[in-house]
Amino acid sequence: MTDIMQELKEIVGESVSSSPGERCCYAGDASQITGMPDFVVRPQSTSQVSRILRLCSKRLIAVTARGAGTGLAGGCSPVRGGIVLDMSAMNRILEIDIENQQVIVEPGVVAEKLNSALRPYGFFFPPDPGSLAMCTIGGMISNNSSGMRSVKYGTVRNYVLDLEVVLADGKVLHTGKKVLKSSAGYDLTRLFVGSEGTLGIITQAGLKISPLPSARKLILACFEEAEIAGQAVIEIFASGITPSACEILDRTTLQVLKLCDPLLAIPEDGDIILFEVDGTEQSTSEAAEQICQISQHTAKSVRIALGREMDSIWAARRLVGAAISRLDPSKTRIYMGEDVGVPIKEIPALIKKVQQITTKLDIPAMKYGHIGDGNLHVALFIDVMSEEQWQKLQLAADRIHRAAMELGGTVSSEHGIGLARAHYLPEQMGDEAFIVMRSIKNALDSQGILNPGKMGL
Ligand SMILES: Cc1cc2nc3c(=O)[nH]c(=O)nc-3n(C[C@H](O)[C@H](O)[C@H](O)COP(=O)(O)OP(=O)(O)OC[C@H]3O[C@@H](n4cnc5c(N)ncnc54)[C@H](O)[C@@H]3O)c2cc1C
Repeated sequence: MTDIMQELKEIVGESVSSSPGERCCYAGDASQITGMPDFVVRPQSTSQVSRILRLCSKRLIAVTARGAGTGLAGGCSPVRGGIVLDMSAMNRILEIDIENQQVIVEPGVVAEKLNSALRPYGFFFPPDPGSLAMCTIGGMISNNSSGMRSVKYGTVRNYVLDLEVVLADGKVLHTGKKVLKSSAGYDLTRLFVGSEGTLGIITQAGLKISPLPSARKLILACFEEAEIAGQAVIEIFASGITPSACEILDRTTLQVLKLCDPLLAIPEDGDIILFEVDGTEQSTSEAAEQICQISQHTAKSVRIALGREMDSIWAARRLVGAAISRLDPSKTRIYMGEDVGVPIKEIPALIKKVQQITTKLDIPAMKYGHIGDGNLHVALFIDVMSEEQWQKLQLAADRIHRAAMELGGTVSSEHGIGLARAHYLPEQMGDEAFIVMRSIKNALDSQGILNPGKMGL
């Protein structure tokens, strides 16, 4: 270990640590999954990353990349020890190229900082996870993250034009060009998007950006039951309207929101859908009116949010996942079975299934999420001191994952597979597809040093 420490110091100077305190801080992400790294290393350049990987490949040391550690599936948890490669020091915005509608950034740039830098130009990077203020571009690319706006703008995958990647053996490559489209060769960029640090370390990204819309409007529609709300979403989409956000908040979620902000003017006697539309003043007014008209048939109430109300509702919505413990301080939210997704038409069926599963197991649950993408976040919360509740939680999460797969959906719409959902991947993908995935892993990282254990690889 001492000689490895010495070699690492020769590469990154003092930006390496093996102190127990620091190793503990890098043991996991925002999930329950942890592992203990032997070293925490903070590279500052591509050439340092390349030299570190050459060393690790020679000495067979596991390397787990980490952005901000906000992942919810154990993606950056170093479950086989080795090195945690903290990419947060590589955090420069290298180029803002408005004429070409692109930026070039290092992976440690925090998403909200990128948007702050783009705002004066009237542009933004649309993928919008709830963790926007913390998570890094490298982590977002590696998890193919998305969020409230993906229903209209797509996921991170739709914005990555080029990646600089360091492979397991230290070689550096670019996957694309500074062009908005290309049909040359295999799409290596997309291969690395969503690969969760198992194929290479991203050291630079060329991203497409979009002009900021000039107007936005928020519609609140309240329904007797979540299932009816799901049906209304299908009707809105079938009418040809594409909202810029379409979020479901069930009754329990509304209670949590009220606890966060008692002044919030939201209905509490139903399940609500927040529809946001963006564009010009005229187009948003028309679309908002249409949404009101269509949902009137099934909703208990529908209205357009007034003035600044929209910002406070969205701010509260962002807090909701973490704020759930306000409902019952003796219970903790555990991120398991929290990110399933189904085809839009199956949303009512998914909601019903989740309701049945949690009622049968008598486990409290809050349901919210990006319902316009078919993505439901189920927040299960338990007394973590109770062994019985842990068992129920695991059972509920397993049944929720399986329900989504049975409905033709996915065990993760945006949070990724990591270790938390690794055992479902072969079943979801099918054996043949999983074998292809394993072959790709073997071709790029034959010794299996990059984020070992993740995604079932
Ligand atoms: C409160 C909260 C709300 C959230 N809301 C959303 C949401 O709405 N939508 C959503 O999609 N996610 C959400 N997430 C999950 C999480 O924030 C995202 O997945 C985020 O993109 C992870 O970024 P990160 O920088 O924290 O990555 P990390 O957690 O550090 O890492 C994530 C994965 O990326 C890999 N990785 C990181 N950097 C690199 C790199 N440079 N090269 C190669 N691999 C790398 C890691 O090894 C790991 O597998 C939320 C999380 C929290 C805590």
